[in-house]
Amino acid sequence: MAEEPCQCPDCQRFYKVHDRLIREFPTFKEQQELNWASIQSFRTLCNKVTNELQIRLSERESNENISQEGEHISDTEISQALDELESVNAYLYSIEALMERIFDIKISNNLELKFKEIANELAPDPLNMDRLILDRLFHQTPDTPDKKDTI
Ligand SMILES: [Zn+2]
Repeated sequence: MAEEPCQCPDCQRFYKVHDRLIREFPTFKEQQELNWASIQSFRTLCNKVTNELQIRLSERESNENISQEGEHISDTEISQALDELESVNAYLYSIEALMERIFDIKISNNLELKFKEIANELAPDPLNMDRLILDRLFHQTPDTPDKKDTI
């Protein structure tokens, strides 16, 4: 017997994002670009935060006597965060190397059509009229209705 997928808030949010990414990026090429952009944006953000923290830490080291009142992040916290971000950056670098290999693969237009067709089955357009009406009903009900009753 197939197990029911978990319906906790985290999982529900995940299903929603998962389906949206299939719906909005329904081709192989779009998925390649999306995933490439997502790794790059994650790296950019992590690098920027790492740089800022490093500057902050070295400023504090050179101004040891100056009061650190008003600072929300302690030195220990910064050092720990820098260690963790360093690992994250190394992992992202590895993922990027693999992603480059995936990025090199090109597929035919006919196969792209198949991707679109399957994407549409997996994650139908929520702006579709029937779906909009259903959603409106969902939002009027205080309790989340049981999926089995509504679909
Ligand atoms: Zn869950």
